[in-house]
Amino acid sequence: MYDAHSKLAEDFINHEEIEETLAFADENKNNLTLIETILEKAAKMKGLTHREASVLLACEDEATNEKIYKLANEIKLAFYGNRIVMFAPLYLSNYCINGCTYCPYHLKNKTIPRKKLSMEEIRAEVIALQDMGHKRLALEAGEDPVHNTMDYYLEAIRTIYDVKHKNGAIRRVNMNIAATTVDNYRLLKEAEIGTYILFQETYHKASYQELHPTGPKSDYDYHTTAMDRAMAGGIDDVGIGVLFGLDKYRYEFAGLLMHAEHLEAAFGVGPHTISVPRLKDADDIDASTFTNGIDDETFAKLVACIRLAVPYTGMIISTRESQDVRGRVLHLGISQISGGSKTSVGGYVDSEPELGDSSQFELSDTRTLDEVVRWLMEMDFIPSFCTACYREGRTGDRFMSLLKSGQIQNCCHPNALMTLQEYLMDYASPETKIIGEKIIDREISNVPSEKAREIVIRNLDLIRNNNKR
Ligand code: SAM
Repeated sequence: MYDAHSKLAEDFINHEEIEETLAFADENKNNLTLIETILEKAAKMKGLTHREASVLLACEDEATNEKIYKLANEIKLAFYGNRIVMFAPLYLSNYCINGCTYCPYHLKNKTIPRKKLSMEEIRAEVIALQDMGHKRLALEAGEDPVHNTMDYYLEAIRTIYDVKHKNGAIRRVNMNIAATTVDNYRLLKEAEIGTYILFQETYHKASYQELHPTGPKSDYDYHTTAMDRAMAGGIDDVGIGVLFGLDKYRYEFAGLLMHAEHLEAAFGVGPHTISVPRLKDADDIDASTFTNGIDDETFAKLVACIRLAVPYTGMIISTRESQDVRGRVLHLGISQISGGSKTSVGGYVDSEPELGDSSQFELSDTRTLDEVVRWLMEMDFIPSFCTACYREGRTGDRFMSLLKSGQIQNCCHPNALMTLQEYLMDYASPETKIIGEKIIDREISNVPSEKAREIVIRNLDLIRNNNKR
């Protein structure tokens, strides 16, 4: 069994191929003729290979980088329009038996208070999240087969979907939990999770082994092949990512794209999302002791190059990043952001627990969801609370074909406007509501089909009037 994982992992994350890719990128980083050809290919919006994209990432020519940023924004607009999907993380438990050297949940950390939410506490957290207006959650937990069992997760998912409170309901539960078996992935699919998210942390096997010295997560091959098992278990929306700062970013970038290429080749559908977390200070973790941190400029370039390489894949940014950085990368390809997040277990109900702070990492963006929504609209983005694709079974390749067909503007744009209107009626502050209604009225004309436009106008009217009664 373990040999099969190892063979599979080596097949698609091939260390020699990554090293050769980096050497090729170095040799060609000033080859403006080749770079121009790669940019022409990227402009066709059908993606780039890991080698091509790595050349763009290595290029230091300022004028070329400006072209990369401009194209990244065009690609984002072509597939995702000006919509930004909103979500929040929900931390279930920080019990963990792994030894990850960068994560405060590691087993030997005796200072962080350990906590696991009961079903009653989950309900209370969900009500607090619904009261902000959230409809989409990402569940987070450490790895601990005694405390955090699959049965616990399944019960938590049922509990979350069952909470009906005022006008709210959580309509999509994504899961970021440790690599597991095909049978467990099947159970998660049956429990109707949305995306299964798992960060690779680093694709560099030797570094991975140093950074994960103990616990089940120390098995690089098992971790690296998790998405293959998730797909085999029927989960067709999977989210990948790297924790930038652990190893060299250009290595990680090539590995990430090779992973996406593998999923596309093996299952006919690439990753649904890519996350780009950067390492942060946390309880007993000092991020400055890790020497591979990247600056904001490099981070922006990385996001833009991912956008060019995988145009259809959603890209997620969390509150690990500051308002300024988030504002910048929203124009370079990001399509989902979190808002009003807490990374402590129970943090939405009790932000200052007596036992002390159990946060997983320090936040750089601590604004409320309402503030983030208003800020997005001030930059002409449409915050979307829509979960319709998932609710109507458009996952995996069915979602991707809708995206590739260009019909998404007739489908997602109306849904985004209607869910934003619901948000404005039920949860927004008066200032946010004024800006929101203006932007909705203006955006109706951006729904291409006349029929779809009529439906939106009728539904917006219903939403506005229902709330007046
Ligand atoms: N237990 C799951 C696993 O093994 O992947 C979920 C892990 S955790 C709840 C979610 C992610 O937080 C991790 O995959 C890691 O990338 C990230 N993380 C851990 N420590 C961090 C830190 N100090 N700063 C920023 N992100 C961190």
